[in-house]
Amino acid sequence: MPLGEFDLIERYFRRSSRRRDVLLGVGDDAALLQVPPGRALVAATDTLVEGRHFLPGAPPGSVGHQALAVNLSDIAAMGAEPAWALLSLSLPEPDERWLGGFADGFFALADAHGVELVGGDTVRGPLVVTVEVLGFVDAARALTRSGARPGDTLHVSGWLGESAAGLATLLRAGANDASGDPLVRRHLFAEPRLALGRALAGIATSAMDVSDGLLGDLRKLCSASGVGATLELDSLPLSEALLSRYPSEECESFALHGGDDYELLFTLPADCPVPARSGAAGLPRLTRIGRITAGGGVRCTRGGVEVPVSGAGYDHFR
Ligand code: ADP
Ligand code: MG
Repeated sequence: MPLGEFDLIERYFRRSSRRRDVLLGVGDDAALLQVPPGRALVAATDTLVEGRHFLPGAPPGSVGHQALAVNLSDIAAMGAEPAWALLSLSLPEPDERWLGGFADGFFALADAHGVELVGGDTVRGPLVVTVEVLGFVDAARALTRSGARPGDTLHVSGWLGESAAGLATLLRAGANDASGDPLVRRHLFAEPRLALGRALAGIATSAMDVSDGLLGDLRKLCSASGVGATLELDSLPLSEALLSRYPSEECESFALHGGDDYELLFTLPADCPVPARSGAAGLPRLTRIGRITAGGGVRCTRGGVEVPVSGAGYDHFR
């Protein structure tokens, strides 16, 4: 007999409570959650649609990981601390092998960051996963897109373009498994930069996560702040793992226009030292990639000379 909706929730998504601030979790009509006094509640949600955000047949563990990771990345970009998650699942059928893998991927990442699943919804339909993450931040220290000022320096964490290259690798191979390829792994299992986001809270003048390609995302940050930026293409962090696999122009294009990096893009006041030394204390490497200017738009330079760069970031309706 196929698994019923309630057995499915019991078996895969209801676990004993892990956080004292969860007064009531999965099982009632709604969850009851205790927000720490004096802190602001942060909320983010993202939806993954099969065939659009992940390939049909993607490993279920990677779908579970990614559905949570994209939300944790938004929480990181606010300089906030995640606490609770809600999960809405639309499933064509209650495939237990898929559900087990999905739950393993989801909870491995949730446990790594102390996030508790406190509710959700389960329906039959096309494969669509929506996660909402709630967390806290001190409102005065929250990172936003709108605080960049002319003269600020511009930085990004980690390596750019690896995830887009991993997707290109998967598409070229026509395969769908991680198979130990580091670029493919990077695409399927992005690491949200929560520790870095918290280290930057109260220090960075602006921040956002890079999910739709650096160039388009930097344009969004500039427009939210009412500033421009100079992006030094020579300093883009391109890894050896990437450069050894694709021609350098293609690597640059993956970094500028590819998606799903989930690194943090942020600005610091001109005289501010980079707060977290690259690679220290579990923090990712940080690279200075340019500076904020007056006026609007993004100028790209190579060897100090302005060069034209075309192409936009990902947009669902274009
Ligand atoms: P209701 O009909 O009141 O919306 P549901 O039957 O949809 O309740 O859900 C029962 C309980 O299970 C609720 O507490 C809900 O939050 C939780 N729940 C449903 N689906 C999921 C899921 N995929 N993951 C976690 N909790 C879930
Ligand atoms: Mg419901």
